[in-house]
Amino acid sequence: MLKFNNTYIGLGKPFFQRSLPQKVPAPDLLLFNSALANSLGLPDELQNDNVLLSQYFSGNQLFEGAEPIALAYSGHQFGHFNPQLGDGRAHLLGEVLDNNNIRRDIQLKGSGVSNFSRQGDGRCALGPALREYIMSEAMFALGVPTTRCLAVVTTGENVYRERPYDGAIVTRVAASHIRVGTFQYFAARGDTDSLKKLTNYAIKRHFPALLVEAELDKTIAVDGKKSANEISSQQVLKFFSAVLSKQIPLVLSWLRVGFIHGVMNTDNTTISGETIDYGPCAMMNAYHPETVFSSIDRNSRYAFGKQMSIIQWNMTRLAETLLPLVDSDEDEAVEKIEPLLTQFHQDIQQGYLTMMAAKIGIDEPAEGDGKLINDLIAIMKTQKLDYTQTFVSLTNSLTTSPIEESLTDVLSEWLPRWNARIESFKAAAHTLMVSNNPVVIPRNHHVEALLDSCQETGDLAALNKFLAVLRQPYTDITDTKNYQDAPVDGDKNYHTYCGT
Ligand code: AMP
Ligand code: MG
Repeated sequence: MLKFNNTYIGLGKPFFQRSLPQKVPAPDLLLFNSALANSLGLPDELQNDNVLLSQYFSGNQLFEGAEPIALAYSGHQFGHFNPQLGDGRAHLLGEVLDNNNIRRDIQLKGSGVSNFSRQGDGRCALGPALREYIMSEAMFALGVPTTRCLAVVTTGENVYRERPYDGAIVTRVAASHIRVGTFQYFAARGDTDSLKKLTNYAIKRHFPALLVEAELDKTIAVDGKKSANEISSQQVLKFFSAVLSKQIPLVLSWLRVGFIHGVMNTDNTTISGETIDYGPCAMMNAYHPETVFSSIDRNSRYAFGKQMSIIQWNMTRLAETLLPLVDSDEDEAVEKIEPLLTQFHQDIQQGYLTMMAAKIGIDEPAEGDGKLINDLIAIMKTQKLDYTQTFVSLTNSLTTSPIEESLTDVLSEWLPRWNARIESFKAAAHTLMVSNNPVVIPRNHHVEALLDSCQETGDLAALNKFLAVLRQPYTDITDTKNYQDAPVDGDKNYHTYCGT
């Protein structure tokens, strides 16, 4: 059985509220992620018992040792600070050590109201629950750091949005649910003691190597004696640096595969650097940095090409919360933390160049490669070239097939430059491109068509076929070709919604 051990509860009262999932009338297991379940050590006899799984993953029955809580957090939503968010429709059941001894949060989402629900009903509709499952599985297979879904259970109840929908509960597995907004919650209340607790906890959980370093520091320090909830300025800065380093592979892998998160609010930005909250996310088809699908993102704040600057904005908000732990003099604290943000800016820019270079087969970008990449992107933008397909065509042009005629024309000036650049290491370039350019992504029109058909017919066969393809996004398998097409209308009328 899952062995729960709930360290977050040890942080004490201001961090959460105890809250039980609300029972549902007819829980029915729709999707179950056995690969993930295996990694968590969920026993086979439970995995084979759909009735019991439905009970557990609807919250109708609690696992032994689970102590459900709703977490407190704040957040900047579209740039505006909301001091009081928190889990309004989610229950953290507790933590489990996976097979790699990594602590994972097991959370139900759509499991009923808590004290943080405000006007919300605490519930989740089936469509968004399925969407989170599909998208997070696809992202995981694409090599993007992400929270994952263990199960989707329908509740037997309707959820009312603009019309009634089937209700569902999705089980989310995450490295933790500590967000930038969690730090903001305590900073907004001037609760430095809790900020210290949270930072120490986050270090222990996500960056244990820093603890070892601190121990080493202590052995040389003369006055190494510290009370339980103390943290040195150095340690806070190291922590912040570690958080920054997790955000780079996160956002760069989004940009690599064409993912638009859609709602990069600070409450949806984890300290662990995992993708969280698949509400209004979407995939880009034709390349354009301004691509936005979210119906509520009216100012295009979270457009595809803005994600690198938004993560820096979010990290600056995190830095602000840490100032009192860095120095009692705020100006001094700013002076100490600012260089880390400057460094972050440089690192993410450099990382972007390296990531894009890999997409065209170059391992270590040299002088001139920035221009080569920018020129390609500029053509893709003006010619409205499909992001995924273009890189696949370029990849294949090194081995199997000549580049499509449509591309030869628009890339007539660019292709010879690129070919000359990689001429001396074509095989290595090809290998690099194969592992950086997916042949298939969860295209919006395919995802939506499957969500519609699942909800109408309840038949999951087509969805499972799609998932099988998405689980091998760098390999052309028999069914891959069925999902590679760009939408005929370029998704021009496609809108995503917050998954409420
Ligand atoms: P999200 O858009 O999922 O990031 O949610 C933002 C905030 O709204 C969080 O505090 C959620 O818990 C809360 N929320 C979203 N949907 C609901 C709902 N149906 N009932 C209660 N709270 C909700
Ligand atoms: Mg959220």
